[in-house]
This record gives sequence, C-alpha cells and structure tokens, in this order.
Amino acid sequence: MSTYVFGHTNPDSDSIVGAISLSYLKNQLGEDCVPTRQGKVSPETEFILEKFNGTLPELKTSYAGEDVYIVDYSDLAQAPEDILEATVLGIVDHHKLGDLTTSTPLECWIRPVGCSNTIIKEMYDAYDVEIPKDIAGMMLCAILSDTVIFKSPTCTKVDTKACKELAKIAGVEDYKALGMEMFIVKSAVQGATARELTTRDYKEFAMGSEKVGVGQLEVVDLSVFDEMKEDLFTDIAKLKEEGGLHTVMLLLTDIMKEGSQVLVVSDDVSKVESGLDVKLENNEAWLDGVLSRKKQIIPFIQPQF
Ligand code: MN
Ligand code: MN
Repeated sequence: MSTYVFGHTNPDSDSIVGAISLSYLKNQLGEDCVPTRQGKVSPETEFILEKFNGTLPELKTSYAGEDVYIVDYSDLAQAPEDILEATVLGIVDHHKLGDLTTSTPLECWIRPVGCSNTIIKEMYDAYDVEIPKDIAGMMLCAILSDTVIFKSPTCTKVDTKACKELAKIAGVEDYKALGMEMFIVKSAVQGATARELTTRDYKEFAMGSEKVGVGQLEVVDLSVFDEMKEDLFTDIAKLKEEGGLHTVMLLLTDIMKEGSQVLVVSDDVSKVESGLDVKLENNEAWLDGVLSRKKQIIPFIQPQF
C-alpha cells in the first residue's frame, strides 16, 4: 500500500513541490510514497512544473484508511474532510501548530522558517540523500515563492542558504531573476474570474467561535486590479455568505512596493481595524510593509476573537 504525501487545500507551490520533494526523499529511504494534491494548481505552480520537468501530482481528496504525510499545514480547516480516518505518519510544516491531532506517534518537522521546502532540504541533508537537479529547481522556486524572493519577514538565513545550495544543484545562476520571472507569471490575472482570484490562495481560520477567511494575491504591480476591484469585493462578500464566515479579507500584495491593499467584508470591521491598527475607508486600507498573512495578519486578528 502506498503512502500519500500532500499539502493543504487550494494548494500553492510549496504544497505541490513539497509533496513531490518529500515523496522522492521517502522513496529513497525505502518507503513507497506517492505525491497527491487536494485541488487545482495555480499558474505559478504550472510554470514551475513546466520549467523543471515536474509531473502534476494526482488529484485526491479522500484519504480514509490511508497512510499519509502532510506538508505545509496542520490545520483541520486545510485538510481533507476525512483526515481523522487516515493515519498521519508525519507533518512537515512552517506554520503555527494547527488543531490536527493523531492517534499514533508521528514524525514532526515543524520549524519557524520561510518555506516547507527549506525544511525538506534539511531533511535531505540529514539523511544524506542527493537531490535530483529538477527537484532542486522546483524546491528553489517554492522557497522563492513563499519568501517573496527573500522580502517576506518570514524569510530566515536558513531559507537563503537553502536557496543558494539548491540553485547550485539545479544549475540556476541568477535565482532572483528566476523569482521575478515566476512573480510575473503570478501577476497575470487577466482572464481569471473573480472567484478564481479570491480563492487562488485562500485560507480559513477558526477564531474563537467564528470563522475568518483570508485570501492573498501577490503581484508585481497593483494596477492589474484597478478594473476588477468591485468584482473582488462582490466575490469575497459571497464567500463570507456561503461559508457562514464572520470576516473575509483579501490581501492584494504589491511585492515591489512591499505592502498590501486589504479588502474587508465583516460582521464587525472594528475587529480588523483594531487588530491591524488601521482605519478602513470604503472597507479597504493600504498596509505598508505587510507581505505575510501568516506573520503580519493572523497573529493580530486572532486575539480580537
Ligand atoms: Mn502554503
Ligand atoms: Mn509554505
């Protein structure tokens, strides 16, 4: 029986590449592992897979009775619905500890670094397993994506060191240029529906007795959203309604100006205003220096509930 390796719902590049890189490592260590995914991949991830000859992991949303490793999350809200009927053999993650518990002992690699693939790189080193050239290239991209080319406050020295070593293995000379190429692909939002955009990188969090959803779109120039802001507002209001959420926020992040325009629909905007120490005008505000949902948004909103 194979063990499945997969990341969170609405998978980002770290979740998809992490499934691939961790499966390969486990296979080298004699475990039969298969990378899977819980949903549709983004244009950025498609770019990475194409660039480094990666195979798109199989879509699989049910895991009852299976052995699994999970990557890039430990929240039930981001897990398959039947995760509690699976045996979680291990977690590799770089987020706050979530609410998933297990009935058996497990392997845990959870560190406060910028990307799950940075931790997987450390695992390869710890087990002395060679990283194939193409997998190194994909892992490099995942780290550049999660750390916003090292600009995010979540980025650590461990991440930059891992990137240098992975770039060498992958034969990538200018990895910051590769990062920009990737973010330009990510910025191509024309042609996508409002729903595709609001849910491309969207996570829901349990806060007190309420649910809060926070989406994020990272682009090289915010003007791409000028024409579609009203549609984005309408859609996050729908997301809030459909999910019975207290609040839905959408961060439009400008990676060059290094800040985010936040759009908010909420039963009580004062929670967002006092949490982020900002006054919303027409339900939006510019948050200077804010690039990370995980480090600069969630820890400040959570205590409001
Ligand atoms: Mn992720
Ligand atoms: Mn990640």
